[in-house]
Amino acid sequence: MSYPGPHSHPFGPTDPNRSSDSFGSSDSFGSDRPRRSRLRRPLTVALAALVPGALLGWLAYEALGGTGSGGDGGPGGARAGAGASSNAPGTAPAGGDDRPGTLSAPPSGATAPLKGKVVVIDPGHNPANVRHTAELGRQVDIGTNRKECDTTGTSTNSGYSEAEFTLDVAHRLRTLLQRQGATVKLTQDGDRPFGPCVDERARIGNTAHADAVVSIHADGSAAGNRGFHVILPAAVHAGAADNRAVVGPSKDLGKLIASDFARSTGTSPSNYVGDGTGLVTRRDLGGLNLSTVPKVFIECGNMRDSKDAALLTSGVWREKAAQGMSEGIVSFLHGS
Ligand SMILES: [Zn+2]
Repeated sequence: MSYPGPHSHPFGPTDPNRSSDSFGSSDSFGSDRPRRSRLRRPLTVALAALVPGALLGWLAYEALGGTGSGGDGGPGGARAGAGASSNAPGTAPAGGDDRPGTLSAPPSGATAPLKGKVVVIDPGHNPANVRHTAELGRQVDIGTNRKECDTTGTSTNSGYSEAEFTLDVAHRLRTLLQRQGATVKLTQDGDRPFGPCVDERARIGNTAHADAVVSIHADGSAAGNRGFHVILPAAVHAGAADNRAVVGPSKDLGKLIASDFARSTGTSPSNYVGDGTGLVTRRDLGGLNLSTVPKVFIECGNMRDSKDAALLTSGVWREKAAQGMSEGIVSFLHGS
């Protein structure tokens, strides 16, 4: 399991530990010469200061080096069918660093700014979907048309599944929002055999009277296609769907999440959809068409691109991703 941490991207070539090796021990600064004894203490103190200094420098470097990201901008690649990706899932999920909490904000103490607010987190797909493809194929009504119940999602080339990714980010986001006092509900928590279907995912947000819903995904596009995008609902009034009342607030929510996600992760907006804005509007997603509460999707990156995959498989990066989403949601709820 080659954990592609920050060191593997182009900005991270050095081994920060190497520089501190020479400070390994003050023993090498011989103590045999009594006449220098008065110098020894300040020298040791200076060295003691240097070692953490080097460490601090490395930490600052790490914090800044979060991504090399899809910077080259050009809307080059093919427009991959975003969202419901049809790539076969990997067989051997390769976890990566799953320890949560490394970059999370400190608890907000006595304040609970989101008290009384309900946030529904929709972790895209379901790790168990791969074993229920027949059930997933059932068609459901999404207003504009009928569509399959749910999909298996995509995965990185090394087999880290989108479903595993979305659940991990969802857990991190839930923790952050609960610290702010929000009531948080997940549409699934790996606790059901498959799904839920996309229409039920929407219904869960609706019946919870959620103040905000975010559906978490990662894309399965062509290599070279990089970056995140937030999917906003187009106004749909067809069949069972009527989301017209929430298109405006959903757009506000999506813009805030996109902005905070970009800042928190240091990741660039998609270089293959959205013309560099990180925002895409769609009318073919049941989860958005059928929502009667403010809701957006976020495609956090492209699992099929090796550089994006290096980010998506990093627990540190996923914490930053959750942090960015949380901040966007908090901003939205403060303004509503
Ligand atoms: Zn997805």
